[in-house]
Amino acid sequence: MLGAIEAGGTKFVLATGNDVGDIEEKCVIPTEHPDKTIPKIVDFFKGKDIERLGIGSFGPIDINENSESYGMLQKTPKLDWAYFPLARVLKEELGIPVMVDTDVNVAAMSEAKWGNATDVSTCLYITVGTGIGAGAYFHGKTLKGLSHPEMGHIKVRRHAEDTFEGCCPIHGDCLEGMASGPAIEKRWGMKGHDLAEDQNVWEMQAFYLAQALTNYIYILSPERIILGGGVMKQKQLFPLIRRNVLEMLNGYVSSPFLTEKEIDNYIVPPGLTDEAGIKGALSLCIGTPF
Ligand code: ADP
Ligand code: ZN
Repeated sequence: MLGAIEAGGTKFVLATGNDVGDIEEKCVIPTEHPDKTIPKIVDFFKGKDIERLGIGSFGPIDINENSESYGMLQKTPKLDWAYFPLARVLKEELGIPVMVDTDVNVAAMSEAKWGNATDVSTCLYITVGTGIGAGAYFHGKTLKGLSHPEMGHIKVRRHAEDTFEGCCPIHGDCLEGMASGPAIEKRWGMKGHDLAEDQNVWEMQAFYLAQALTNYIYILSPERIILGGGVMKQKQLFPLIRRNVLEMLNGYVSSPFLTEKEIDNYIVPPGLTDEAGIKGALSLCIGTPF
């Protein structure tokens, strides 16, 4: 039996599963102060005979296995969790090995293993929700370096009709500041799901997301791009983003994926729907990298 945690800013998903990726038991708890959340996690896993635990976490978090502070949250606006040594505490409490990666990196890995990218060796998983984040899976491994990638905070060119100042607390009008769920709500005065019929909202949204995807394609050359998160529940975004990406690339990258005919199979929703994160956390503790 293996354990998995999807650690988010509003909720933690806890699960047990097996080494072929089936989730057996699942439970959702709210994200509170660690003093309250950690005992609930320990209660869930204690007595379940878990051999290893995988955590897909919100960031920033140290994911360098050789670091002293592996699995420790870093400076974050979620002040209760800043510098909290999540992996170390759970390792000590449960007495088992604990593996950690970002929520989006593990989502990319589980989509590659069981979801919408099983036929390719490389993919990106991008979430467009309260924030924007992306993870990358390349040939059996997720992408990490100095730290984990921060693809949500890249610069974007402003839409000609957009006067919104942006809402990223660090950069103002970065991608997250212009295209996250809260950015949509602040710009248009209503939540995204109440704006479903407003074509201008989704044209502008696609303009920003397509710029980001175009840059990711140039830099990382992924064979598939998976778009998840609450905002992507607006399915009308997919054709708009695909069209914008093809226009922005302007034929420069030669690939059979990047054609009118194939783009529908290149930019896709998650195959694991809402389970990409928790299954990804589970995949962290399955055998050797696949
Ligand atoms: P989180 O990022 O916190 O894990 P979500 O991915 O659900 O959670 O993202 C929440 C954001 O997505 C909110 O800003 C919300 O307004 C927006 N959102 C959620 N559902 C929808 C929807 N159906 N249509 C448009 N926006 C949505
Ligand atoms: Zn930013």
